[in-house]
Amino acid sequence: MDIDELAGRIRNGERRALARAITLVESTREDHRALAVALGERLAGAGMQALRLGLSGTPGVGKSTFIESFGMMLVGQGLKVAVLAVDPSSARSGGSILGDKTRMEELSRHPNAFIRPSPSQSQLGGVARRTREVVALCEAAGYDVVLIETVGVGQSETMVAEMSDLFLLLLAPAGGDELQGVKRGIMEIADLILVNKADGELKPVATRTCADYSGALHLLRKRPEDPADFPKAMTVSAVEGDGLERAWAEMNTLADWRREHGFWEARRARQARHWFEEEVRLGLLARLTGSPEMRRRLDGFGRRVAAGDLAPGVAAKEMLHLLGAGSA
Ligand code: GDP
Repeated sequence: MDIDELAGRIRNGERRALARAITLVESTREDHRALAVALGERLAGAGMQALRLGLSGTPGVGKSTFIESFGMMLVGQGLKVAVLAVDPSSARSGGSILGDKTRMEELSRHPNAFIRPSPSQSQLGGVARRTREVVALCEAAGYDVVLIETVGVGQSETMVAEMSDLFLLLLAPAGGDELQGVKRGIMEIADLILVNKADGELKPVATRTCADYSGALHLLRKRPEDPADFPKAMTVSAVEGDGLERAWAEMNTLADWRREHGFWEARRARQARHWFEEEVRLGLLARLTGSPEMRRRLDGFGRRVAAGDLAPGVAAKEMLHLLGAGSA
């Protein structure tokens, strides 16, 4: 495979080349990995900087419906939109919920849209690496908006927030009791809360839910990277398309404000650093679990710790020393 040619075709925005590159990135084969890394080097800095939008919400809240109508609105404005899914359940089961059903039918057929389901990888760490690389590929291919969608369970939300410029939380209209079901941590990373299904009979409940969340957001600590009235909650109807223009305007207001005040670059810099450290952690972990000798030593230390012969901290220190020595 000619990597220079592939890089050129990606820069030209050829979808087939992009799909091919993603297959390389997702592959676990050593030679594919090497090609993916070489490709990443060729494409570094290529293309414009897309707006990376993280989107989370529990199953049934309307993520597919929202992405379909929001995405259609964006391509209608001449923007190129990529949609990537991160499905933590696929990391466990090897199958992808987000990829199974036919989703976003209209958007998936649009020439300016690119939709990629969640990869099935055994570890969330692997999914994170792949998704970041795919985001970079989409940027190089000239996509203006990269939407990274995840189901609202486990650690995947934090992970997606760590690779997004803005993080959107989609919620369903609900009674006051359910409000407390949204974890504080998720409220803290959300830039915009969208209460979906604000239509028909659900509209009054959605409006009330939105007011409740606005109140809850006001109680959170003010973040320096936000203008005065952010984070905020608003209602939308993915089915009827209500509120989507306004939501897009809010996203741009926030994005522009952060750019003007230096928080945009700072956030990306912090994220780059986070992922560097994460890669080091993954690499160390691979060194620990990848070698039978190291696994044997780990098991040996583990047994001595369990038997009370060795303190956990001391054993860990010795194990880490062995890992360090292994690298020489
Ligand atoms: P996902 O699991 O989060 O991707 O949710 P889906 O997009 O598959 O939607 C789940 C259900 O909610 C479907 O029956 C949708 O038709 C419905 N739904 C999604 N958005 C809206 C909306 O804005 N209003 C109403 N009334 N129903 C919606």
